[in-house]
Amino acid sequence: QTIDPALFIPAFVPTPEEQIPQIVAAARTKYNTGITRSIAWRKEQLRGLYRCFDENEALFCEASHKDMRKNHAETWTFDVLILKNEIVDALENIDDWVKPERVNPGIVNILDTAEIRRDPQGVCLVIGAWNYPYQLTLGPLAAAIAGGNAVIIKPSEVASHAAMAMTHLLPKYIDSTLFPVINGGIPETTALLKLAHDHIFYTGNGAVAKIVMAAAAKHLTPVVLELGGKSPVIIDETVHLPTVAKRVMWAKSINCGQTCVAPDYVLIPKAKEAEFAAACEVAVKELYGDTRTAPEYPRLITLRQFDRVKGVLEAQKALPNTKISVGGETDADDLYIQPTVVTGVKGEDPIMQDEIFGPLLPVVTVESIDDAISFIQTRDKPLALYVFSNDKRVVKKVLERTDSGNAIINDLMMNMTMSVLPFGGVGPSGQGKYHGHHGFLTYTHARGTLYCPSGMNALTEPRYPKMAYTKNGR
Ligand code: NAD
Repeated sequence: QTIDPALFIPAFVPTPEEQIPQIVAAARTKYNTGITRSIAWRKEQLRGLYRCFDENEALFCEASHKDMRKNHAETWTFDVLILKNEIVDALENIDDWVKPERVNPGIVNILDTAEIRRDPQGVCLVIGAWNYPYQLTLGPLAAAIAGGNAVIIKPSEVASHAAMAMTHLLPKYIDSTLFPVINGGIPETTALLKLAHDHIFYTGNGAVAKIVMAAAAKHLTPVVLELGGKSPVIIDETVHLPTVAKRVMWAKSINCGQTCVAPDYVLIPKAKEAEFAAACEVAVKELYGDTRTAPEYPRLITLRQFDRVKGVLEAQKALPNTKISVGGETDADDLYIQPTVVTGVKGEDPIMQDEIFGPLLPVVTVESIDDAISFIQTRDKPLALYVFSNDKRVVKKVLERTDSGNAIINDLMMNMTMSVLPFGGVGPSGQGKYHGHHGFLTYTHARGTLYCPSGMNALTEPRYPKMAYTKNGR
């Protein structure tokens, strides 16, 4: 079998640990020359990043297929296209974003000029996750470039082909000293975290986020943490269940449920539970036909993830209250788990403890909207919250009495494609925002700057001690 040379992806090689401090130091030395302050230069780098994906789309898609059997269309739509949109948005708006904001200096400083500059954070570290490796690693990079920063890029080693595709191609399109890629797992990331950075952007799970935040605290480095959690879906009696089921099962099955904003569980009135489950079964057939053979349905990324998700399913199946209403099949050799709907679930069940991050959908019944709200209030604040209702009062009540990183009414996940809305979690689901202008704000700091006249001493005299106090007899 001949290999298309255009689709060549080198084997995964971790960056030697002893080289890491030198690579970071080289980025800082070049950053200190001031090269990244030029807006023309930033645009050139952003264009380079765009072209990298434009000219090598097939290779990037193939890498994700090798990692998790993600089909090319899914990688293109939910990973590459989202990244490209971020780059285009930055290119279109950077001239406005960088303009210093003039502010009124007030009567005391009437002869001065006051402005708020957006200055770069400096030399930043981005630690990416594996599930959407391009947008999660390079979306922050695009915002950081727009902000005038240098960035040490650390892709997830779990999506090793995607990591190597980025390592192989990025240096051909963007400055490799200011934007170096460092590969590896825990030892290499630990080595990176020992060094002083000006900003750290971490995407992944909450346990590692605590390690990142503790390392950042040693240097007083600001962090953005993009984490996960159990994102609920509230469904009331006013909606058309086949439509809702199709949207929910699409969002639950895409990337085989390995999406940070995937619906984690459903809260629904008891009277609607069976009808919803039946509609989910129809929806999966409409979306994929047979998920076992459909090329559009991906797999769990590793045997470790497969065993974890299967373990949750098995523990749940053992409970007498539980019914597998849809799916339930698994195959370890193929890392396959069928889109599965579990009904009769209680809040204290195993499947309701941690983020599922796989294609299992527990359904919990509630007595009322107040009951659904209380259920959410007693748990960690989620990354996303979804409400399906045609009653505006219900929507208003849910929004006013719950909290989440993002909220969507009558759909799921579509905020991911928009640069105008801030993206990020709250509390245990994360801190800090990005996408579009919000990413630019994250990657710059507001530098309050005052320009004063160098003369006009008569006006400055009253502030000096002898004038201000002694002459007034105090
Ligand atoms: P992962 O295993 O790829 O880990 C993320 C990064 O952390 C990797 O670069 C990895 O090398 C590094 N890492 C792992 N262990 C480490 C350690 N002990 N010390 C230092 N660095 C370490 O990804 P994951 O954590 O399995 O990702 C899944 C989680 O991420 C889910 O909870 C999901 O919800 C969340 N997530 C959130 C977002 C978001 O934007 N909010 C996006 C994707 C995933």
